[in-house]
Amino acid sequence: MLDKLSSALKKVTDKIANAIFLDTALVESIVKDLQRALIEADVNVSLVLELTQKIKKTALDERISGLEKKEHIIRLIHDELIKLLGESREIKLGKINVFLMLGLYGQGKTTTIAKLASYYAKRGHRVCTICLDVYRPAAAEQLKQLSDKLNIQAFIDPKEKNPKKIWKNYESELKNYDLIIVDTAGRDALSDDLIKEIKDISNLTKPTETLLVMSADIGQTAKKQARTFKEAVNISGVIITKMDSTAKGGGALTACAEVKAPVIFIGTGEKPADLETFDPESFLSRMLGMGDLKSLMEKIHSVIGKEQIEETQKKLQEGKFTLKDFQAQLESMESIGSMDKILGMIPGLGKAKVPDEALEVQQKKAKNWKHAINSMTKNEQENPEILEKETSRIQRIAKGSGTTTSEIRSMLKQYKMLKEMIKSQSQISEKGMDQKTIMKLAKKFGRKMKF
Ligand code: GDP
Ligand code: MG
Repeated sequence: MLDKLSSALKKVTDKIANAIFLDTALVESIVKDLQRALIEADVNVSLVLELTQKIKKTALDERISGLEKKEHIIRLIHDELIKLLGESREIKLGKINVFLMLGLYGQGKTTTIAKLASYYAKRGHRVCTICLDVYRPAAAEQLKQLSDKLNIQAFIDPKEKNPKKIWKNYESELKNYDLIIVDTAGRDALSDDLIKEIKDISNLTKPTETLLVMSADIGQTAKKQARTFKEAVNISGVIITKMDSTAKGGGALTACAEVKAPVIFIGTGEKPADLETFDPESFLSRMLGMGDLKSLMEKIHSVIGKEQIEETQKKLQEGKFTLKDFQAQLESMESIGSMDKILGMIPGLGKAKVPDEALEVQQKKAKNWKHAINSMTKNEQENPEILEKETSRIQRIAKGSGTTTSEIRSMLKQYKMLKEMIKSQSQISEKGMDQKTIMKLAKKFGRKMKF
């Protein structure tokens, strides 16, 4: 069900969780992914733009820092999507219940009646169905067949053309049931005569719930349909069918939310069991592949320590990046286990890839580099350029740390390159960086980044 939307949303939240900095380029790419996913799921374009505008604004709000910003954005995405999905409504059954089912041809009305009958019978209710669709004799037969299979009593009279007569004929028998589900005739479109007919049947049957059945494949057209039915006969809820078989489900769901027609159930297949209650919160959690918002937040926190992010971020903002910071990066690389992560820490360069086979060698080197940095004086760590001027220092450090001078030189080269990379990136990120520039930089440094 909406698999594409689901995997796209998961990717977006992963991107946020794994990012160490939310720079302009990353926010742009998140917003683009989100827009594409929602529009593909047929969500109204202007709603999508509104949502992404809000995300951008929060993301680029200078008053919110690092990790907090990630939380903010995840929460924002979550809350805004919930809003798009609308209010939830649960049907509370009383002593006697009559469900009047409405909908145009082929929307899944009769199938849904069987699903509802099965759903409530399983929950201990005495359920029956009755066909007041007097236009197509086959409609009555279909309802009977579906009901029989479920051992549900179906009241039909295929020859009778007057719904009032059918209802009256069965009135005494209907008293044996606490839930009566009424099938009605559809039309190709909502016409005046259909409205009149529905109103008459409504007066006759006195429904406790008037439920509109719409197929998800009509997408945003659901808005017009729900609104018109709501105005004409005051529907109490909507059931969206065929959520399993179309990418337009997002459109149908959000369209109902827009006209404040609460979706109560969704149909996810042709079988009687393929019915689910619709709750925006749990629906979205499933879409995001998370138990709930809390576990999503935990995921963000688990990726990397808060202090480390803030510390490095501060250093970058101040334009300071000493060998000690470089060492911290190396440590985080060891714990995370991938050079990609270091590149990912540098705004906009997350895309540069280091081949896996180089990883082991690189980690061993990183270890030696760390020892070397530990053997330096504080002055050397903070001002590495003095090492290049006085090579005797390098010899001393190599001896003290059990490394070689060439290892130290290559480390210094690497450090300088990283620093240069950060500098050039922070200049660009002031104005924002486009995808082409990112790729160019990633390529340039990705190749140079030899361990
Ligand atoms: P009605 O004219 O509104 O009564 O529509 P029907 O109940 O006869 O359903 C029309 C078609 O849609 C049938 O072939 C059903 O099997 C199919 N259908 C109904 N609900 C679902 C659903 O949730 N998923 C899928 N895949 N098909 C459905
Ligand atoms: Mg039908």
